[in-house]
Amino acid sequence: MARAKVVSFSNQKGGVGKTTSCVNLSAQIANKGKKVLMIDMDPQGNATSGLGISKSKIKKTVYDVIIGKADIKETIIKSNFKNLWVVPATIDLAGAELELYDIEDEQLKFTELALDSVKDDFDYIFIDCPPSLGMLTVKALTVSDGVVIPMQCEFYSLEGMSQLLNTIKRIRAAYNPDLQVVGILLTMYNGRLTLTSQVVAELKKYYAEKLFKVPISRTVRISEAPGYGEPICYHDPYGKGSLEYAAVAKELMLRI
Ligand code: ADP
Ligand code: MG
Repeated sequence: MARAKVVSFSNQKGGVGKTTSCVNLSAQIANKGKKVLMIDMDPQGNATSGLGISKSKIKKTVYDVIIGKADIKETIIKSNFKNLWVVPATIDLAGAELELYDIEDEQLKFTELALDSVKDDFDYIFIDCPPSLGMLTVKALTVSDGVVIPMQCEFYSLEGMSQLLNTIKRIRAAYNPDLQVVGILLTMYNGRLTLTSQVVAELKKYYAEKLFKVPISRTVRISEAPGYGEPICYHDPYGKGSLEYAAVAKELMLRI
């Protein structure tokens, strides 16, 4: 097997569909036969619970990996879904951002999110980033081949986009020259809104080649699926949301 491609789902805004997209694209691509590891880097742990991983199953988390107390191999949990494994996060990760800034041990401060020991075991490693551009996101982007930027069609989305692209530029310069923007994914899309078409027009002006062709519509089925601990491709396989994520999954695999 080729070494895994690592893709982070990042946007410093909360509630834009990072976790939903990371969970659903992980499951979709795994269901199609690729081996996928999803790493939850958000202290909220939404991606972990969205994949139906119960708290009682969690022994070690991504926190133990970034403070150098565990090899990532020891933290991996098999999900209930085909070809899909998870490195979970719990709320203890919230402290990591501060601790990593505080610690005097420079060695530890600059520990990478070490993925080398598992790269040969997977086709894709997808990382769900927290809603900030802090240390956790920097660590994720530093070890990524690419980043997917989920965004909602809102007025302030464009402003946030240039800030995020600036961060990506800085990470390229400092740590990871090969980091590529895989694509911008429109989420919770409602084409009937005037604002939506205005934002899309603006996005096309600047980032046309980066936009995924198919946007993800706002659907009730997508929003209820995490409550069942199920990705949309299992929760509602023939629904609109599932078909759209399937189309994006296809495009994503062509792009990276
Ligand atoms: P983020 O990880 O960026 O904070 P989430 O993926 O958690 O964002 O999404 C925020 C909220 O929006 C969640 O309640 C989620 O269920 C809901 N949501 C995400 N995508 C959709 C969609 N396509 N249709 C309906 N609700 C969605
Ligand atoms: Mg999230």
